[in-house]
Amino acid sequence: MEIVLCSQCGHVLHKGDELVTPKDIAKKYNGRCPKCLNPLNAKGTKIQIISKGRR
Ligand SMILES: [Zn+2]
Repeated sequence: MEIVLCSQCGHVLHKGDELVTPKDIAKKYNGRCPKCLNPLNAKGTKIQIISKGRR
């Protein structure tokens, strides 16, 4: 599972099994975090890939 967080406020921008790039995230949210309006880009977005509980 992949979780993408806003590096500024920690808001969860994406959570799921499909892998997305920071670019996709930025596109999805029009380039800004919906919570804190931090500009999203490759450097401003945290990605955590969590692999647990594989079925
Ligand atoms: Zn944010």
